[in-house]
Amino acid sequence: MSTPESVQKPVLPSACIEGQRLNSTAIRLPIHAAASGEVIAWQQVASPDQIDQAVASARASLPAWRDAPVAYRGQLLAAVAERIEARRRVLVQWQMQVNGKPRAEAEQDVSDVAACFAYYAGLCLQCDAFAVEPVELPDSSVSARRERVAVGVAALIVPWNFPMVTTAWKLAPALAAGCSVVLKPSELSSPAEQALFELLAEAGMPPGVVNLVNGGAEVGAALVANGQVDKISFTGSTAVGQRIMREAAGGMKRLTLELGGKSALIVRADADIALAVQLAVAGAFANAGQMCSATSRILVHDEVYRRFMSEFETAVRALVVGPPGHEASQMGPLISAAQLARVRALLDQGLDAGAQIAFAGRVAERADDGFFMAPVVVAEPPSDNVLWREEVFGPVACVRSFRDDDEALALANDSPYGLVATVVTEDAEAAERFSTELRAGLVWVNTPQLIFPQVCWGGLGASGVGRELGLEGLRAFQELRHVVRRN
Ligand code: NAD
Repeated sequence: MSTPESVQKPVLPSACIEGQRLNSTAIRLPIHAAASGEVIAWQQVASPDQIDQAVASARASLPAWRDAPVAYRGQLLAAVAERIEARRRVLVQWQMQVNGKPRAEAEQDVSDVAACFAYYAGLCLQCDAFAVEPVELPDSSVSARRERVAVGVAALIVPWNFPMVTTAWKLAPALAAGCSVVLKPSELSSPAEQALFELLAEAGMPPGVVNLVNGGAEVGAALVANGQVDKISFTGSTAVGQRIMREAAGGMKRLTLELGGKSALIVRADADIALAVQLAVAGAFANAGQMCSATSRILVHDEVYRRFMSEFETAVRALVVGPPGHEASQMGPLISAAQLARVRALLDQGLDAGAQIAFAGRVAERADDGFFMAPVVVAEPPSDNVLWREEVFGPVACVRSFRDDDEALALANDSPYGLVATVVTEDAEAAERFSTELRAGLVWVNTPQLIFPQVCWGGLGASGVGRELGLEGLRAFQELRHVVRRN
């Protein structure tokens, strides 16, 4: 559907295949500026034929890319990292405009994207991760080797909350491994990925190795169903991840699933309370709480509960919620009107079931019809309350008290999810116990949510299958192969 507005606004291609920008007569989706609600671009949707063409293009380019020297792939990835830095301003701008991220968060995202490409470039240039290894056998008449080969054509499907970051975590290792790719960004935040995609060509990526298809759930589903796709790497909701897992079973497609979370932050009695408050604010309200890793279940020891709550309240009330264009803004809007409605409905549902708001912040400056929501802190919700159990994906945090470490661990681990956790303590032994016993793919001790490309990301249980980043992030795009031959 096209409107007169679309005449003035940029119209993004439905697909980019073999280096060509394609259009489609199918529906167009509006791209909003989260801080104002204004339509700032229109996104064309890929047709079923274009989705097939994109996969066919990836398939055709696979042999040359897979068999190219690893160092060549490394040089291209390094060139992409350099182009990202060179085009930082425009990439930051898209994050601020579409997602409404404050400048500091948008800058951090772009740094993470560049660091990810640089890391996988380094692995390729260093070559060790690709070495063919001899395997010792108890029979001298034969010898064996172990090697890793690219999985093949990879479909990369990503959400809107960290658009280019979730893409980079898939794209850089997939290309390093020698896979060719079809990327499907979120229909809510595609301009950033479009800009990133254009950098790949500028960096010299051969046409056809990376292809782009745009649109929503139907486009993602068609990609998943395509018989020429060997691997699906998906980041998004647990519900969609489960659907993809069922669908992928037919073709035995390889899967990486980065899904939801309901993570805990634990404040022991010996914690540095100022640090705990700082980590709680960032863990619950960075990116307006729209983080799979949001530590939205905060557990505080009885002895320091009152002091923590008092300092947390001061910090939350001082949080400047406003448009990204204002330098003072520390928290931006949610991504869309639908997301705002969803978060508010969950909050109402939790409050109707007996949860109580302890305190809330406020929106400092509202721009027009932006999708802003003030941060909310709920105290002592029961274990079966929806706000304690379900991923809200917005600025709502719950706090509960605990009496001892056993109770803190039991509460923290009582969730189907297991993505991340944070523990704040000055006691090294206790820190070790929590690091070992918390059911999470990544535990931070006394640090903010630091992310390094060397450290893997991924969760247990309902938080997903597999790992991204680090060496395992590369392995996720490789198949292991052994050869045994008579001497
Ligand atoms: P979503 O599951 O609705 O959509 C994610 C992507 O999948 C989008 O591109 C969407 O168009 C596509 N999609 C939707 N239905 C599909 C289908 N049936 N088949 C194939 N593709 C389909 O999630 P969202 O609302 O975009 O993102 C929020 C979710 O992402 C949250 O649950 C969050 O926890 C999760 N997330 C997880 C991580 C992680 O690393 N674990 C990181 C970021 C976000």
